[in-house]
Amino acid sequence: MAMDMTYFDAMEAKIPHGKIRTRFAPSPTGYMHVGNLRTALYTWLIARNGGGTFILRIEDTDQGRLVEGATDVIYRTMAECGLNHDEGPDVGGPVAPYIQSERRDTYGKYARLLVEKGFAYYCFCEKTESEEDAGDFNRAADPCRSLTPEEAQARVDAGEPYVIRQRIPESGTTTFHDAIFGDITVENATLDDQVLLKRDGLPTYNFANVIDDHLMGITHVVRGSEYLSSAPKYDLLYQSFGWEVPTYVHCSPVMRDQHNKMSKRHGDPSYEDLKAQGYLTEAILNYVALLGWSPRGDQAEREVFSLNELAEVFDIGGISKSPAIFDIEKLTHFNALYLRAMTPEAFHAVAEPCIRQAVKNPALDTRAIAALLQARCEKLTEIPEKVAFFEALPAYERDLFTNKKSKTNDEVSRRMLESVIPAMEELTDWTQEAIHDCLIDLAAKLEVKNATLMWPVRIAAAGQAVTPGGAVEICQILGREECLWRLGIGLEMLKA
Ligand SMILES: [Zn+2]
Repeated sequence: MAMDMTYFDAMEAKIPHGKIRTRFAPSPTGYMHVGNLRTALYTWLIARNGGGTFILRIEDTDQGRLVEGATDVIYRTMAECGLNHDEGPDVGGPVAPYIQSERRDTYGKYARLLVEKGFAYYCFCEKTESEEDAGDFNRAADPCRSLTPEEAQARVDAGEPYVIRQRIPESGTTTFHDAIFGDITVENATLDDQVLLKRDGLPTYNFANVIDDHLMGITHVVRGSEYLSSAPKYDLLYQSFGWEVPTYVHCSPVMRDQHNKMSKRHGDPSYEDLKAQGYLTEAILNYVALLGWSPRGDQAEREVFSLNELAEVFDIGGISKSPAIFDIEKLTHFNALYLRAMTPEAFHAVAEPCIRQAVKNPALDTRAIAALLQARCEKLTEIPEKVAFFEALPAYERDLFTNKKSKTNDEVSRRMLESVIPAMEELTDWTQEAIHDCLIDLAAKLEVKNATLMWPVRIAAAGQAVTPGGAVEICQILGREECLWRLGIGLEMLKA
């Protein structure tokens, strides 16, 4: 009796055609590691570059790995990064549901369809996981492979537990094509009859992927090159169903060094970690895009791309076969470029919380402080340490007043401060311009270089040798009273 195909025909009819469709299909692990973010980015870019559809699918059938709140991390990261999806669990779409656990009834039907077609079989053997993984499974010896359909069905009907295995041809070769690695041919004899449907009725990762990708009309599959070895089995599955094989784009791993992949377990940062370390999302995305992809043609020398600019120039042909090494120094370089390119308002918005970690006094103007920092910081997390002196004068040593280049020593610094304090007390306006003019005029009157006067003022005002901004800006931000008090403290120290 022929199988009723109504269900399969209905599923087939739902599949959208004619446009590029890509998907990002993370497992909810509770964080987004850098390699995962890159996969999300590349799949998004392929869709956007081709005017296609980007789909978010949650692969949560591996129940043992579920972490509470983990899907929220995925949604939050995608939204923060601007990797908006057109279809997904939260927004729906024509091939819903987009959560694998809600599709569980589908996989068994397709596995049984393959049994019907002769490309899969019921296996009743008790095998431990290690027997499967170790490649010890000698399929020629599996008695279930040669059961007649009637024999197998009778045992299923009798309630005997089973898995469904893919029936790999015993001889011949399978060739699959990868957009990056080209044609790869393997001997079928080297492939195992992998499990498609487990005893609990849930699909294996490989099987669920093929079914979902087909039923969602996915045209381009981006994934890690560690899956290259299972790709021929995918090809055979597509052939067995008579489905068109999508374009495979296998990407080489992101490495922490020459020999080791990046891994959260070894302390390598996830996206969330990088954010917490003071990196901007835009800089992270730009850098991650270049981990294994480079622009070509007239853009070949270019490094800085916004997300939309990437969407315009991204092409699969620019993806490298070689593994990319994650270099935090290079990311820091990108971050500094992005911080400097922001408008003062935008920089203030991201810097303010970091400034306020150290500077609690509401009278101190965070906008003025941010203006000093913008050209002088590479990461937002450097900010509190750089600006803490505004909040409280640090304890410092008198030898800071001695500086060869500025031609200052204790004696010179004392004379400068003795003149500066009364001159600044006279100021009616406490603006940068007024302070600047006052100090410059005074230097001329005293017949010293500007630096000779500015050095002791800055040391006394800040209490440290290295500061964002010069004497004028620091004095202005501190305000008249605090500034004059600090200059007085410096003078007392020099007199002692
Ligand atoms: Zn068996």
